[in-house]
Amino acid sequence: MAVKLLVPGATIGILGGGQLGRMTALAAARLGFRCHIFATEPDSPAGQVCDQVSVAHYLDEEALDRFAASVDVATFEFENIPAEGVLRVAASTTVLPRPEILEISQDRLREKDFLRTIDIPTTAYREIADATALTRAMRDFGFPAVLKSVRMGYDGKGQVTLTPETKPADAWRQMGGEIGILEAYVDFACEISVIVARGRSGAWATYPPVENQHSHHILDTTIAPARIAPEIAMRAEAIARHIAEKLDLVGVLAVEMFVTPKGDVLVNELAPRPHNSGHFSFDACVTSQFEQQLRAVCGLPLGDVTLLRPAAMVNLLGDLWQAGEPDWVAALSYPEVKLHLYGKRDPRPGRKMGHLTALAETAERARERALAARAATCPTPSE
Ligand code: AMP
Repeated sequence: MAVKLLVPGATIGILGGGQLGRMTALAAARLGFRCHIFATEPDSPAGQVCDQVSVAHYLDEEALDRFAASVDVATFEFENIPAEGVLRVAASTTVLPRPEILEISQDRLREKDFLRTIDIPTTAYREIADATALTRAMRDFGFPAVLKSVRMGYDGKGQVTLTPETKPADAWRQMGGEIGILEAYVDFACEISVIVARGRSGAWATYPPVENQHSHHILDTTIAPARIAPEIAMRAEAIARHIAEKLDLVGVLAVEMFVTPKGDVLVNELAPRPHNSGHFSFDACVTSQFEQQLRAVCGLPLGDVTLLRPAAMVNLLGDLWQAGEPDWVAALSYPEVKLHLYGKRDPRPGRKMGHLTALAETAERARERALAARAATCPTPSE
């Protein structure tokens, strides 16, 4: 389908109503675009900031058709939208990134197979069909190893770390998926990610690699730029660019990677959308990942990705509400700290409610500032 250039005034459809959609919609509003959110629940984080919202199931064909007819281009902000729903929208309007990329990223096995075909290194992995196959693979892989469900896994959901004591049948049950993937455990020196943007003309831009620290498999802290050797940073950016080109990406893509103690860079996961590890760009870069996504899908020139000042982002998970409502005045009293809240009412453990981004003269200082601001804001320390 030929894609026309979209300028401010056009309507961008966003499948998914979460915080990524919210921040994309806020960036869109600043540029004079309109957004139409398709969400499964009323009062979604993204729906709250848009005047056009469809609330329906992702497989509701009538609702999807109405949505598609009302927008100039559609994108998605959530990986686990059923591919059938996205393809339905793509039958009558342009969806970017192209839905096939979403399908690859929805399936950990397909994703790793794809990476292998384009010569991108990953940890050793194997498809696991049942507990018996798992027993065999555990013998071959050794310990520790990580069993993951092939589909619907994010933020550590459907993931089990295997040790010599683990009973295969228990691990299989706990993983909860129909098909699993067993991965050799990577004893990494650090985790990094690169957000790469690619426009319709093939122009590309990579944000500087950032360092990600997880807690219970959920992103906790992002440090920008990553404290890694320039040679590793260059390799990480080249990997992200290669993947974006091979996928024929239009939009932004997050590439999560492990850096090993020897300096090898292994790709862990792809997310073809703005990403939690790119939130720092909202306050710290000339162009945020959210604006970049809009520029790419609209056919506009990509924006400058320069990091204006070292930054660190810390997530505010629902766990931090245990002692009551956080002290927002404390958060807002911190110099060079920006508060972002997603408008979610129910602070469940593990749920991403918002984040803080701190800026400073060095990445390490920014990290300290972000952690201090979070500790002051939330009476229960998170570490
Ligand atoms: P994922 O859902 O694959 O992004 O995994 C979430 C987090 O779990 C990663 O960011 C790592 O901290 C950890 N993890 C996942 N896979 C592995 C692995 N093969 N080796 C070591 N740590 C892993």
